[in-house]
Amino acid sequence: MKFDTVIVGASIAGYNVAKQLRASNYPGTIALIDQESFLPYDRKELSKNWLVDRNQPNPPYFQNRTYFNKQKITPFLNTTVTFINPTNKYLQTADGRDIYYEELVLATGSQLRKLNIENSDADGIFYLRNFEDALAIKKWIKKVKQVAIVGGGFIGLELAASLNSMGIKVTVISSSPHPLAKTLGNDASNYFVNMHQARGVEFVLGQVAQKFLVDADNRVNAVETNQGEVVPSEMVIVGIGVVLNVSIEIEGLNVDHGIIVNEFGETALPHIYAAGDVAIWPYRGQMIHIEHWENAYHQGRSVAKNIVENKSHAFSVMPYFWTDQYDETFEYLGYTRDWADIVVRGDVKSGKFTLAYLDHDDIAQGILFANKSESRKDIQALLNLNKALDRDKFMDKNKKLK
Ligand SMILES: Cc1cc2nc3c(=O)[nH]c(=O)nc-3n(C[C@H](O)[C@H](O)[C@H](O)COP(=O)(O)OP(=O)(O)OC[C@H]3O[C@@H](n4cnc5c(N)ncnc54)[C@H](O)[C@@H]3O)c2cc1C
Repeated sequence: MKFDTVIVGASIAGYNVAKQLRASNYPGTIALIDQESFLPYDRKELSKNWLVDRNQPNPPYFQNRTYFNKQKITPFLNTTVTFINPTNKYLQTADGRDIYYEELVLATGSQLRKLNIENSDADGIFYLRNFEDALAIKKWIKKVKQVAIVGGGFIGLELAASLNSMGIKVTVISSSPHPLAKTLGNDASNYFVNMHQARGVEFVLGQVAQKFLVDADNRVNAVETNQGEVVPSEMVIVGIGVVLNVSIEIEGLNVDHGIIVNEFGETALPHIYAAGDVAIWPYRGQMIHIEHWENAYHQGRSVAKNIVENKSHAFSVMPYFWTDQYDETFEYLGYTRDWADIVVRGDVKSGKFTLAYLDHDDIAQGILFANKSESRKDIQALLNLNKALDRDKFMDKNKKLK
């Protein structure tokens, strides 16, 4: 079996490679492979509206099967790729098929980090990465009134908001005393915690889950922390982050932590590209990876354009992510992991605020803007200046950011 382009991973990045190939009038055959059993769907909805909507049993699909037929994109579902031979340009699947390619795109995303503590196999313990996880959570939720969430990251807090809005009592157990502070700093962290507490969510901060307590039927009924605190819970959802999905053996390519690509999405091997969460790519002089929706979307499209016309499209989209919790939206543009200072515009407590994360030269490398405090266009323009920030002007809310 042979296709002109084979895409492994039919999620945000992979689906958008296929879609953009056709939008760019690519005449070749396209195969879209995924180990999951569903056509491409929008993963980000699983912790938000989709979960809260009790009447929605299907995945939030991007397109129905007719679209894929019409576009001549051949999906291979329930198909796990295990091995790639770049010399002879074929891949192998777990069920023993060889699929040959001219161009290959790896969009295998991320996979869950698992918690391995006592009673981890008990009933009522869940993770959330894919539709099956989400469906299992949705079913179990119907039976419970009290949930513990292990992990105070974006997924954990989005779930806390969704479950709280469904009338469920939620306790978030976070190893950090300041959830999200590593990414957003302490001011933003405090805002998030207060926002949740004001709605009745409880927090156990600076403690790690050490043991699940179970009843005689091996069903979870509490989480015990390393400090001996016991959090009663009829259900636990663990959200302690992800690792890049590099489970495929690729002859001649070292893929320890992710797949390194250049600005065209090309790996070190000819005719093999990578896009989305799994890609490690050059951004402003550093090699970074981004585990967010828009990056997967744009990188997928960019790779498609480079397949249609070799090296035609250098990827330089500024990283962006957002999180929706209750009726509030938080957006972040740029990229920084170790800022020197954070400058505040607006009043954090009011919920309308903008935080600039400055490097040692006072240049803003990332900006968080809450509840549409500013326009994305203005924030992007400011970051693109790449010049030392005039702190006084920035902090003066009477002056327009523009
Ligand atoms: C519940 C949830 C909520 C989110 N909310 C937000 C949000 O609000 N904002 C935001 O910016 N980001 C959000 N994200 C993150 C965002 O969804 C990811 O960044 C995005 O899904 C990455 O897309 P991807 O295509 O690179 O990889 P993935 O979505 O991880 O997809 C990879 C695909 O590859 C398949 N695959 C992997 N290995 C193989 C193999 N060997 N063979 C065959 N198939 C394989 C997998 O089955 C999977 O379908 C959220 C994620 C989750 C789980």
